Amino acid sequence: MTVAMMLDAKGHNTVTISQSETLADAATILADRRIGAILAVDENGKMTGILSERDIIKFLAKDGAAALEKQISACMTRNVVTCQRRDTIDAVRTMMGEGRFRHVPVMEDGELAGIISVSDVVKHRMAQVSREAEELKRYIMDGAA
Ligand code: AMP
Repeated sequence: MTVAMMLDAKGHNTVTISQSETLADAATILADRRIGAILAVDENGKMTGILSERDIIKFLAKDGAAALEKQISACMTRNVVTCQRRDTIDAVRTMMGEGRFRHVPVMEDGELAGIISVSDVVKHRMAQVSREAEELKRYIMDGAA
């Protein structure tokens, strides 16, 4: 399965926030939307980084409640690993494993085109494994008949 196929099934919606907003603003959106990461954008809407719940926890542990007033631009990861619509979900799973992160934004012609999370990848993998198990079962049953 490709990233494009997965996005067509789950939707292309990506939640973004201005990099000049605060960690408190980002935490509110993550909680409301029940998501684990948000993409930071500049005044032109261009992606400049990613902020995940782990980044918020890291700064809370370091600075206490004062961290919530920090700007997202000071806390986000700027070097964002992205994928393309034509990439396979298996390739995205490898990116997540090697980079040890759970979110990969999708880019198309330099523009944000969606986001794939580890739960999307796990759901896909579970379906794949159960399909393969069914096929094997059928193969064994047919051989026994
Ligand atoms: P996550 O596992 O996605 O919650 O993120 C763990 C850490 O990796 C955080 O510091 C994120 O800012 C960072 N991160 C998340 N996604 C990416 C990505 N696609 N590229 C680079 N860093 C990322």
